[in-house]
Amino acid sequence: MAQIHSSHSSATPFQATRPDPAVQVHLSPSLLIVGGGLAGGLLAWRLAECFPDLSLQVLEQKPSIGAEHTWCFHQHDLTPESLAWLSPLISASWTSHDVRFPGLNRHLRSAYFAIRSEDFYARLKAKLGQQMQTGVQISSLAADRVVLANGDQLSGTVLDARGAPALKPGTTGWQKFVGLELETEHGLRRPVLMDATVPQLDGFRFMYLLPWSPRRLLIEDTRYSDTPELDTDTLEAGILAYAKQHGWHGKILRREQGCLPLPLQSGFLNATSDLPALGLRTGMFHYVTGYSLPETLRWINQLVEQAKWHDWQPDALSRMMTRYQSAWQGRQHFLILLNRLLFRAADPEQRWRVLARFYGLPEPLIRRFYAGQLTPLDQFRLLAGRPPVSVFRALTALPQRRLR
Ligand SMILES: Cc1cc2nc3c(=O)[nH]c(=O)nc-3n(C[C@H](O)[C@H](O)[C@H](O)COP(=O)(O)OP(=O)(O)OC[C@H]3O[C@@H](n4cnc5c(N)ncnc54)[C@H](O)[C@@H]3O)c2cc1C
Repeated sequence: MAQIHSSHSSATPFQATRPDPAVQVHLSPSLLIVGGGLAGGLLAWRLAECFPDLSLQVLEQKPSIGAEHTWCFHQHDLTPESLAWLSPLISASWTSHDVRFPGLNRHLRSAYFAIRSEDFYARLKAKLGQQMQTGVQISSLAADRVVLANGDQLSGTVLDARGAPALKPGTTGWQKFVGLELETEHGLRRPVLMDATVPQLDGFRFMYLLPWSPRRLLIEDTRYSDTPELDTDTLEAGILAYAKQHGWHGKILRREQGCLPLPLQSGFLNATSDLPALGLRTGMFHYVTGYSLPETLRWINQLVEQAKWHDWQPDALSRMMTRYQSAWQGRQHFLILLNRLLFRAADPEQRWRVLARFYGLPEPLIRRFYAGQLTPLDQFRLLAGRPPVSVFRALTALPQRRLR
């Protein structure tokens, strides 16, 4: 049930009018999603679809939510049901994609989807209206309330969607990238998820190409690196040189960058949230790619199931999250081993060989890898034969050794 709090502090977006103008009354929603990024936005969207009468608020600290992300996923990362509910938010899709390595060009016949953050927020805003508030400064959170910086208090069940939590130093490798969106004729008909024929620098390096339209191309210079630092100018210069080499010239329309942690051991988070959480905040993402959209959707589906039983009490949600998270974490050890193969067993300039071998494997296995659903047989196939780096070295490297 929504609750009403009175205060005499300054106005907030949750204010309702009363005959006495000296008394400001805050009609608090029963569900408060703190953080209006990908996860908070997706949950709000799904709840608004399934429970149009549910009282909810998304509270986002940024004054406006902008155009800095492209979120992609493979068709088989999601169930058909999840893909169906996500589809109104999808900006572009392609029926297949390519990868390129020295000695290997492969066309993979599984569809690929992309969501632009500007489309995402425009659609979200249209659906949620005043239920999505930006520029909200929060001073503290508890399981059943949010205190704003101006002292006002909102009560309701809190879901923490504030993005990546702090990490323990030296426990992860990094997938880092800088992207430029160019207005140029490019001739590409489908995405190239990895063009690793480029010089290998700062670990495994590849170009990621997303052809939004015949005259619009996103190029990202990506590194699987030991360090999180991004030399943006150098990477942008590398992208422009690559574009020029392919005959692509044109105006820069947009920039994007990211640095995603890839765990080398379990327990890589400095502290997890005590609150029911979602998105990166839960630590549930694909450990080898750093991507979170598919895991976030799976968790949202669980939360929505729970909502059907009207059980949004903080305690019930926390218990459910603990159970779900610990079962999920128990399935991630193999991906940690793969990261250790990449970051610990392979010399940085040889890392591409691990990925080149992976992309030579059967397509269903590749799909299950991205979906985070490798079978024991898949795991055996990934390590069997003659992997290009020593599995023994990956297993025996000390987890706490600091990366170079
Ligand atoms: C450039 C980039 C591209 C990516 N591409 C992909 C991709 O293609 N596919 C994929 O699956 N993953 C991708 N990822 C990884 C991951 O999915 C994204 O980082 C995703 O945005 C994470 O979603 P989230 O909601 O957990 O966190 P975020 O999207 O970071 O959202 C957290 C939100 O909480 C807000 N917030 C934080 N603190 C407070 C506070 N105190 N009060 C109110 N609000 C607060 C932040 O301002 C932010 O808006 C990408 C990451 C980056 C950086």
